[in-house]
Amino acid sequence: MATGRTRVQYDCNKCVAFCCSIYERVEVTARDVKRLASHFGLTREAAEKRFTVHRFGGRILRRKKDPFFGKACKFLHPDTRGCTIYEGRPQACREYPGQSRCGYHDVLQFEREIQNDPTIVPIVRLTFKKQLRDAAR
Ligand code: SF4
Ligand code: SF4
Repeated sequence: MATGRTRVQYDCNKCVAFCCSIYERVEVTARDVKRLASHFGLTREAAEKRFTVHRFGGRILRRKKDPFFGKACKFLHPDTRGCTIYEGRPQACREYPGQSRCGYHDVLQFEREIQNDPTIVPIVRLTFKKQLRDAAR
């Protein structure tokens, strides 16, 4: 989730937290482990073991079951869709999406408009593939 320091055109409070759900990999640096440990009053070793896992070639946040997306960050509240450790969240979460618009927020608003249902949630799954051919053809 964004920090709100810059003027942005999305509202995380009106979103279902795609960013905390669809990305399997949320990087946790040594500094993030220190912050998590401080937030929970744990040692760094205990925080790393309890909240992180080594996968995809690095240390990432653990995930858990999620009612919308199947899996989400272990710190995402399943009902409010808010971060339960906001002050202790990793740097990657603080910087996301890093621009004035959030594409997932746009998708949510777009689908709610065209489906004429302000409660609907489009379930997005994210897989990255390289496009080998020129898209302009
Ligand atoms: S997906 Fe975008 S709008 Fe939704 S919580 Fe994340 S940063 Fe905020
Ligand atoms: S730590 Fe908080 S902001 Fe970061 S992915 Fe988890 S729930 Fe989202």
